[in-house]
Amino acid sequence: MPTATPAPTPKAVIHQRYGAKAVYRVEEVREAVDGACPGLALPQSTRSVYRGHLDLAGVLSVATPGTFVRKKDAEQAAAQMAIDKLGIPSTANIPSTPEEAWEELIARISYFFADENFPTSSHPLVGHLSVTLRRTGDLLGRIPISAIVACDVKVHTLCKIIDPKAEFDPLLVLSMIYNAAKQCTGVSVSNSNFWIQSQRPYFPEAVDLALQHWSGISDPIRVEAVLVPCVMEDEPKAVSFNLSENEHYMVGIASKLSAIDSSHVLVSRTVGKTSSEIRFYFPAPNVQLVSDLSNNVVGCRGDGNINRVINKRASYISGQTIYGDAILANVGYTRRDSELQTENVTLCTYYRILLGKLPDGIYKISKDSILVAELPCVYSRTSWKGPSPRDLLCSFCRLQRLSEPHFTVNRVSASCNVPGSAVCSEEMGSLKTARQSQCTKDGRIDKETPDVFKCFVKIFSKKRELLLEYSTDDNWSKESDAIQNSALKVLIWFNHYFKQLNTHVEKLYLPKSTDGFTIYPNIFLQEFAMCLSVYGESSGGDSRTCSADGPFSMDTSHQQLENSAFFTDIDGQDSGVFPSHGSLTCISYSVYLLMKDKRKKYLLEVNNEFEFEIGAGAVRNQLESCITQLSVDQSARFVDELSDRDLILAAASELSPDLSKISRDSCVLEFSVKVLQVTEPMEDRMEKALFSPPLSKQRVEFAVRHINQLHATTLVDFGCGSGSLLDSLLEHPTTLEKIVGVDISRKGLTRAAKSLHQKLIKKLLTQSSVPAAVLYHGSVTDFDSRIYGFDIGTCLEVIEHVEEDEASLFGSVVLSSFCPAVLIVSTPNYEYNPILQRSAMPSKEEEPEENTGPCKFRNHDHKFEWTRAQFQHWATGLAASHSYSVEFSGVGGSGEEPGYASQIAVFRRMTRDQEESSPKEDDPRQPYEVLWEWANASMMSN
Ligand code: SAH
Ligand code: MG
Repeated sequence: MPTATPAPTPKAVIHQRYGAKAVYRVEEVREAVDGACPGLALPQSTRSVYRGHLDLAGVLSVATPGTFVRKKDAEQAAAQMAIDKLGIPSTANIPSTPEEAWEELIARISYFFADENFPTSSHPLVGHLSVTLRRTGDLLGRIPISAIVACDVKVHTLCKIIDPKAEFDPLLVLSMIYNAAKQCTGVSVSNSNFWIQSQRPYFPEAVDLALQHWSGISDPIRVEAVLVPCVMEDEPKAVSFNLSENEHYMVGIASKLSAIDSSHVLVSRTVGKTSSEIRFYFPAPNVQLVSDLSNNVVGCRGDGNINRVINKRASYISGQTIYGDAILANVGYTRRDSELQTENVTLCTYYRILLGKLPDGIYKISKDSILVAELPCVYSRTSWKGPSPRDLLCSFCRLQRLSEPHFTVNRVSASCNVPGSAVCSEEMGSLKTARQSQCTKDGRIDKETPDVFKCFVKIFSKKRELLLEYSTDDNWSKESDAIQNSALKVLIWFNHYFKQLNTHVEKLYLPKSTDGFTIYPNIFLQEFAMCLSVYGESSGGDSRTCSADGPFSMDTSHQQLENSAFFTDIDGQDSGVFPSHGSLTCISYSVYLLMKDKRKKYLLEVNNEFEFEIGAGAVRNQLESCITQLSVDQSARFVDELSDRDLILAAASELSPDLSKISRDSCVLEFSVKVLQVTEPMEDRMEKALFSPPLSKQRVEFAVRHINQLHATTLVDFGCGSGSLLDSLLEHPTTLEKIVGVDISRKGLTRAAKSLHQKLIKKLLTQSSVPAAVLYHGSVTDFDSRIYGFDIGTCLEVIEHVEEDEASLFGSVVLSSFCPAVLIVSTPNYEYNPILQRSAMPSKEEEPEENTGPCKFRNHDHKFEWTRAQFQHWATGLAASHSYSVEFSGVGGSGEEPGYASQIAVFRRMTRDQEESSPKEDDPRQPYEVLWEWANASMMSN
């Protein structure tokens, strides 16, 4: 039995009275955040709060005197003010019990058919009535009960009070109105059909007015719509019907649905954009509508399973129970206009609505880049494009009919936040008190260490039952960064979940707790049951497995693409400015569907300016591989297999009807791309802007000094990236005879190969001896005997890109197995960051809070950045356990407080005799893959 429903919100009350005349506006206000300890001078920071404005055209205009943390609350407060000023008895006319609601529903329906309300009122129902008055015979003045459902918000509210299930069940709503109408005076409903009409003849004036609106004979309007079959194996397809002005629009829909008549057509709530009238129309199942309110039963009794097959896709999209084949169409009367409003719904619209329910789908659509954009896996304020992760998460929850996500931000004292220290993990356990404990610990606030923030997220069902919780150890110097990063983590989690459903897993894998996530399986699965059936085994699985009959195949080659950096047809000169990891890159692109046999192309998607960050997973894999091979102003073309057909149909706005007929084997996707502009990552820009010569160059010079001191003939660069060190070494005169680069990234190595090749050729033309060079693909944490015992090993700005335990592993592997005579390791000095940040961003006027607190790291790919003490602790320990000595140095700055910008450790092997250690040369391990090799004197490349 339904429990008492909470009173409607002030906004709902205003909406019922004023509809579209109520215009809300929220004004953003910056407000100082005060500390938890009164009387203490806390470092001031600000946050956004909101003031609500409501304008009721010509009636009243109000603004809240106070401000609110949430926009929603500001609007509600403004609505409440208006209610108070207008003296609207806000709850008096909203019934609180099902019985009262039932009486009210009966009154509401009678009201529609009372003559004085027709046809002068501007209610959309008048549009429906008018058209039925143009009929002759039996049907004159009869409208389908569903028309009332489609038109009136209040009817819905009342039905939900009578039984909350009404929200999800259009059939139940139909049954309620049918039974209520039977008790209305002056209204009649037929026994076998779902018509409703006035018992008395309509007033002649009313009929005249209705007929006046009607211009007589006019051309029928053709409306395109989408039929979503109930059988999952059948693909949705385009349908169209003609609407004539003298017939009710549901007649056309009814015939498409093979419904008995238009009164047997049910309607869903609106789907898609809030302003549209897009709804599902579906045939009423064969049931008997019963009403026995004394026993609290208003419902429908069906004869079992006949005709009651649930349409899973339509139900998933609308969040309501929809039976049988359904038509998605955009037609209806609105309050604004007495004419019938129509808009075409194409397959593309359908696939976009479907896509928009997924976290990455919302992102793809918002960036207008369905085939190319991917949800990035990292958030940084400067490079994030499109709606923020928080907004995306809110949209996702809204579209999945969950409650608004809940963000809890906790302020933690930053002194606990030295990387690598775990001092206050316990304190962080009780986060609600973190603010206070910070103040009471020693009674004063350390101004040197600004606070940091962490953000927890909770996702609730509509009924406010907790279904997912995310907590994190990550701290951020800004509140908004903490929120955005946590929101992104949750989005990625959900995305993963949906992808997994799509790939046809045997059983749903719902980890109880991973990386800070806690899932409450009962509630979770209950809420996402529909998704399971649409994407999961029974359906998505089917449509994939029987894709031999369908037009497209699934994209199965993601992992494969990761490793294949292939490209075709590069146009233009190498300008030397290329996208590297972390750089913001602007491209133009177009994607075509290419018919292999017919040599015909269809344009699917085009974008003249699309900006994204390299290495953040922001575009499809193969595209990024291609782009990292290009430099600014170069363009390229490559071909990819067809990916998910839903995506293609969502992207192809023009040709979706054609596309659904194209056979899958006969076409591929062709991408054309051009690199327009590259903005280097913050770290590189800082290094260039602040140091002369640039820091990277200083690191090279540092290495060259040691090579010459040692008269080194062999060098290996661990984590060589795009080969900046190897490249520069060829510009200096050195004693080197062999240089080797190792990296885990094929993209970087491909880039390195290109420039190394050019440098080697140039050197060969001018000099007698040129060192041999090899580029290996592999991880520096694996030993490969081909690089054993080199004179010098370098590892510049690499360790901070791996987790701390891997950095230690690398240290031991190098010193115990590779055994170079000298090893040079450089890494950022965390203590130097404030200087970099202060000088790198002096002109960020528009964001005054930009400079408060430490930015987390120099480059968001960094897993850590160490202070001098941390680095020295790591290096001395390592040296001691492997018979090396170690000295500390650096480049960038004078080396005085707070140390160099880049700190460097130089390890020297102490055991003279290499034979003393085990003979590593004979070790058979050669896990590295040779990607490119240039022999000593003559040039040979492969
Ligand atoms: N040494 C170069 C590149 C630094 S960027 C320079 O100073 O310009 C860090 C590099 O480390 C990247 O190219 C990344 O691919 C590489 N890297 C990260 N983890 C690695 C691993 N486990 N093995 C080999 N290379 C790795
Ligand atoms: Mg780095």
